[in-house]
Amino acid sequence: MFDSKIRTIVIVGAQWGDEGKGKLVDVIAERADWVVRYQGGANAGHTVHIGDTTFVLHQIPSGILHSGVRCAIGNGVVLDAEKLFGEIDQLVADGIDVQGRLYVSDRAHLVMPYHKLVDAESAANKAIGTTGRGIGPSYEDKVGRRGVRVVDLKHPDRLRPLVERGVDHANALLQRFGSTSRADVEETMGRLMAIAPRLLMLADDVGLVMHRSLRGGGAILLEGAQGSLLDVDHGTYPFVTSSSTTVGGAATGAGLPPSAIDQAIGVVKAYTTRVGNGPLPTEFDEPLGSQVRQLGNEFGATTGRPRRCGWFDSVVVRYAARVNGLTGLAVTKLDVLDTLDRLAICTGYRVGDETLTEFPADIIALDRLEPLYEWFDGWRESIADVRRLEDLPEKARRYLDRIQELAETPIRFVSVGTRRDQIIEAS
Ligand code: GDP
Repeated sequence: MFDSKIRTIVIVGAQWGDEGKGKLVDVIAERADWVVRYQGGANAGHTVHIGDTTFVLHQIPSGILHSGVRCAIGNGVVLDAEKLFGEIDQLVADGIDVQGRLYVSDRAHLVMPYHKLVDAESAANKAIGTTGRGIGPSYEDKVGRRGVRVVDLKHPDRLRPLVERGVDHANALLQRFGSTSRADVEETMGRLMAIAPRLLMLADDVGLVMHRSLRGGGAILLEGAQGSLLDVDHGTYPFVTSSSTTVGGAATGAGLPPSAIDQAIGVVKAYTTRVGNGPLPTEFDEPLGSQVRQLGNEFGATTGRPRRCGWFDSVVVRYAARVNGLTGLAVTKLDVLDTLDRLAICTGYRVGDETLTEFPADIIALDRLEPLYEWFDGWRESIADVRRLEDLPEKARRYLDRIQELAETPIRFVSVGTRRDQIIEAS
């Protein structure tokens, strides 16, 4: 992966999130000096299984599980500091040494208690299917120039007017929603002052730290959350998250120049899932939907919500490859399909008399289209112990070959189980 020329790699989800990025980051992280989160917040939920312990990380990069790696939370993240401390304490309780290994950008915006109130009470957010963690309202305040950044905690006298403005705005929204909940300046200030000393100890100029690391020959892994089809610009708007999940967002959100990014690996499931509402062209009918949901344990790590499941959609993944400039794919959860008699890959969409092979912006059209499928025989055997591409059953190889052909991107990794060692790296 990393070599003398390849110093910065971005891992992004190339579908609607939950692709298994956490596991891939965990696998590649041991070869990196830094692992950096660049967008999203505590709405992400990466699951990594090590031995008998399951780690679910929401804000801290999965790289923290490797003792030689340092981790950073970039300026593009909206940070829930109380939850961050909870995560740190849990890691320490599980025997992971976090001291001196976790940096937080002083430019990152904070998720305030009132953002969560607004999120919980907003009917519009519920219709999108947000996680209710205050992420969207926090990004709204950031773009609306009402946000509070980590660095603002240094100056309590200047913090107060920022909080007053945020509380004012939140209360106006709550009133408009017909909610009886109200945010309170004193309570908010009290909570901020309680977190300030511990948070400021972690705060640094992450962009500068990364720049220095690269100058010294460091290797940086940028860890995306959610997926490309949830990107606020490139996703199925408005059924998207509020941040730039794609590779462009990695540069902005970590404080690195785009020219510093050498490679981008898109993580895709061997099928497709999405949580919440919005288009999913290849969604299974029942009973296949429930069957694959059980086989793949497709329930959200953060919310426990059942995920909607469908066939692999090559139109989606080729689109993600284009907007991200993917240099490779990591196909996960291939083992989940072991028992199926036959599988399909979507190669295009029929809308009326027209055939689409490029992913459209028009989500009304996406709801009406009919996916065009290519069918494959299932391999009907366990692949959990396979560690080389050439040892996969012929029918599984055929399926993967067609994926990389249609996505116009080479497969670099295939994941065949939840464990760290259950991975195939293409040579
Ligand atoms: P992320 O948000 O993209 O990191 O994805 P999640 O962590 O929400 O979901 C991935 C889930 O799939 C986790 O429970 C992983 O342990 C699991 N997983 C990852 N890769 C594989 C795989 O190859 N096979 C199976 N069966 N599970 C996998």
